[in-house]
Amino acid sequence: MVDYIVVGTGLAGIAFTEKLAQEGKTFIVIDAEERSSSLVAGGMYNPVVLKRFTDVWKVNEQLALADVFYPALEAKLQIKCWYPMDLYRRLASVEEQNNWFQAADRPNLSAFLSPEIEKKKIDGVDLSFGLGKVNATGYLETDDLIPAYRQYLSQIGCYKKESFDYDALVYTAEDVSYKGIHARNIVFAEGFGMLQNPFFNTLPLDGTKGELMIVKIPNLNCDFMLKAGVFLIPIGNDHYKLGATYNWEDKTDVPTAAGAAELLDGLRSFIDLDFEVIEHLAGVRPTVKDRRPLLGRSLESNRIYVLNGLGTRGVLLAPYLAEQLYNYIENNIALDENISIHRYKKFKLKK
Ligand SMILES: Cc1cc2nc3c(=O)[nH]c(=O)nc-3n(C[C@H](O)[C@H](O)[C@H](O)COP(=O)(O)OP(=O)(O)OC[C@H]3O[C@@H](n4cnc5c(N)ncnc54)[C@H](O)[C@@H]3O)c2cc1C
Repeated sequence: MVDYIVVGTGLAGIAFTEKLAQEGKTFIVIDAEERSSSLVAGGMYNPVVLKRFTDVWKVNEQLALADVFYPALEAKLQIKCWYPMDLYRRLASVEEQNNWFQAADRPNLSAFLSPEIEKKKIDGVDLSFGLGKVNATGYLETDDLIPAYRQYLSQIGCYKKESFDYDALVYTAEDVSYKGIHARNIVFAEGFGMLQNPFFNTLPLDGTKGELMIVKIPNLNCDFMLKAGVFLIPIGNDHYKLGATYNWEDKTDVPTAAGAAELLDGLRSFIDLDFEVIEHLAGVRPTVKDRRPLLGRSLESNRIYVLNGLGTRGVLLAPYLAEQLYNYIENNIALDENISIHRYKKFKLKK
């Protein structure tokens, strides 16, 4: 008998499993290693929604946790994957400069947006209207973290690589069992795969496809993250992550010519340098219609839980949500209405 079965080793599943490990709980983790938004992600974390200049829900709490959680994982796995790094927003007009000044003046954003516009010169990059600096930013290299985490789970004998067969799950009021594994609880963290899960597939997860490229730009020499229409993240050896697109219609994780054109046009709109495309990736973000996460227990059983809806901000949200779900299950602490699936009428729990 283990304490938990966890389905999924994306950012959500890893964060929850780590919480279990910290609390001395036992677990088996299952993942099909098929579709993963986390593996494709740019991995950037940033406390401000730059498109609308709004702050992020509970961002200070999220940042405080992430700043401890990911470095601790690096130490445990003996890898490097957490890169605090400056982020600059490229300003493209006088109007954008004025918007920046106004945003930096707002009490909820002033801690995160520098009030001055910086003039930097980078050959081949049009920075004529300057740059606005965002504080408390960086990126997580998910492509290094996730394989290392799966390997660690295998080494400690807690990992099964398989597609979860929902018909094989048996549950009672006291426990669940799945193909000979008995557990007190099961937590599903399947990202967009949740739509196959009969316990939770009526939740309003709609999914937003994103495409991203790794490009090599030998003469750019940029050591900070740069957000224009697209973003660039320097990952070493003249390589950069170039992202990302948003597509609400296509739910496949296949890279497309249209996605490539959007990213490359975005790059060419402010950079006049030779580059080479190294890789082109696509995934579906687990976004929810009301843009809020999905945490809670199934209607069928108080042993079956969901951790999903990380949307466009999995890196910062994952450790925070894992804590919230753990405290809900183990310590009976109510979930905030903003993240609970029980905010939806059809998931209201009977008293
Ligand atoms: C192009 C792109 C760029 C992005 N950039 C950023 C960014 O810069 N910053 C940021 O914070 N977020 C970013 N995101 C969003 C981020 O990827 C997500 O918020 C987050 O990774 C979701 O994690 P998850 O664990 O919920 O889901 P996933 O990462 O999708 O993980 C789900 C896991 O469950 C497994 N699974 C599913 N169903 C089953 C089943 N039936 N049986 C067994 N296993 C199963 C899958 O194999 C997968 O490993 C980006 C996403 C995309 C696509």
